[in-house]
Amino acid sequence: MSHQKVLIQHREWITHDVIQIRTERPRKFSFIPGQATELSVDKPGWQAEKRPFTFTNISKTEYLEFTIKVYPDHHGVTKKISELNPGDALLLHDVFGAIHYKGEGTFIAGGAGITPFISILRTLKHEGKLKNNSLLFANKTRADIILKEEFESMLGHNFINILSQEKHPDYAHGLISQHFIGENMRSRSRPVYVCGPPPMIKMVMQELSGLGVPSHLLVKEEF
Ligand SMILES: Cc1cc2nc3c(=O)[nH]c(=O)nc-3n(C[C@H](O)[C@H](O)[C@H](O)COP(=O)(O)OP(=O)(O)OC[C@H]3O[C@@H](n4cnc5c(N)ncnc54)[C@H](O)[C@@H]3O)c2cc1C
Repeated sequence: MSHQKVLIQHREWITHDVIQIRTERPRKFSFIPGQATELSVDKPGWQAEKRPFTFTNISKTEYLEFTIKVYPDHHGVTKKISELNPGDALLLHDVFGAIHYKGEGTFIAGGAGITPFISILRTLKHEGKLKNNSLLFANKTRADIILKEEFESMLGHNFINILSQEKHPDYAHGLISQHFIGENMRSRSRPVYVCGPPPMIKMVMQELSGLGVPSHLLVKEEF
């Protein structure tokens, strides 16, 4: 299987367990915002361990960016990536992904499921087309919210958070419910983009169906 080797240029922890990695970008390398690739670490014993990660840069940047939640207890690829430094290499494999922008609507993300929306929303901002999109973002606590300040600045009151394990006066509390979606979604006749862990996707799909959102408007990816 073909792959391309890219060197890490920059690494930074952006929450307590999420690392942002920027790499060089191969010439003529292209992807559509929302797409992912399989990545592996270019170290002995790790090259064949491929895992899917989403590009979080916009398509015009000279670098590629990944935003990766690290699971140290899996002793797998995310832990290994978190130990890499600038100058170390990653291997890029096939590009794929189910989530593409299909017009203004509501984005619903759980945890690291935000990553396809980072590239899509940054691209819309870059093109001046963000206006009527909203983001409902579910996390355990405030400390888990990825790129909180950037989303606040991009989306203002269209950035709506819900926390399942922390009560705070400025945030909704609990799991994403039909009531929460119904209160906060802009329109039931616009696309709804959903990305997160499988149990969350299952629940949100049922809630959207209960709200009467037709299935052809649903764009989803399971992490
Ligand atoms: C299309 C797509 C795009 C994605 N994009 C992103 C992204 O941009 N950012 C992001 O953060 N994530 C993303 N993910 C999720 C990401 O791929 C996984 O988090 C990643 O593969 C985990 O790799 P890992 O090797 O660290 O752990 P795993 O592959 O989950 O685990 C390695 C090994 O650890 C063991 N293990 C598994 N679960 C546990 C557990 N709970 N406790 C202890 N041991 C365990 C198993 O033996 C397993 O083989 C995406 C997923 C998909 C499908």
